[in-house]
Amino acid sequence: MLALLTLFSVLLGSNGEGVQAAAAADAPQETYIALTFDDGPYPKVTAHILDVLEKHGVSATFFVLGSRVAGREELLLRMEALGCEIGNHTFSHADLTSLSKEQIEKEIADTNAEFKRVLGHGAAVVRPPYGRYNDSVRSVIAYPLILWTVDTNDWRPRNAEELASAVIGEAEAGSVILMHDQQESTAAAMDAIIPALIEKGFRFVTVSELLAIRGESCNAIKMPEGG
Ligand SMILES: [Zn+2]
Repeated sequence: MLALLTLFSVLLGSNGEGVQAAAAADAPQETYIALTFDDGPYPKVTAHILDVLEKHGVSATFFVLGSRVAGREELLLRMEALGCEIGNHTFSHADLTSLSKEQIEKEIADTNAEFKRVLGHGAAVVRPPYGRYNDSVRSVIAYPLILWTVDTNDWRPRNAEELASAVIGEAEAGSVILMHDQQESTAAAMDAIIPALIEKGFRFVTVSELLAIRGESCNAIKMPEGG
């Protein structure tokens, strides 16, 4: 104990503030991770995922389709109440690279209009369907494009244990993990994934929080042109 105290006072030394500030600035970048769920909401699966997030007190990001908002308003309100972020995944899940600039704008604006109707505000981030974008897409969309670093392929029905061990094995600092709130196996896997990643020392943030922490050093984030 005495040795530890001595070591501590040596570390703090004459520049204690500097040591602490460096630790505070470095530590979070090592541990933050973002779970993302695309293509919903689907009442049963999305609600189950929200139950698991709520149980563990963690947040995630849902890239919602504008076309799926009507009739599922309560799910969006619950996401926001739990501290989750709602991102724009276009209205119709279109491949944006195949659309005109006017059509791209409409996909994003119509979805944000649905979010505004329910939440009172639009989304701060966009995930292009299939992760597909080009110069034309980037010139039209004034929001950060959020891709991913870990693809779980969970839109195919998968065994929950297999999915959980894949995610737990591949997660690393700054990971943006792509999942879908579509298959029950994904929701079932969350009950294993979240405690295991907490145990490994990760902390869950929304993609906008990850963007604020890591900026463009995250490979999965493409900032808007000129912004
Ligand atoms: Zn999608």
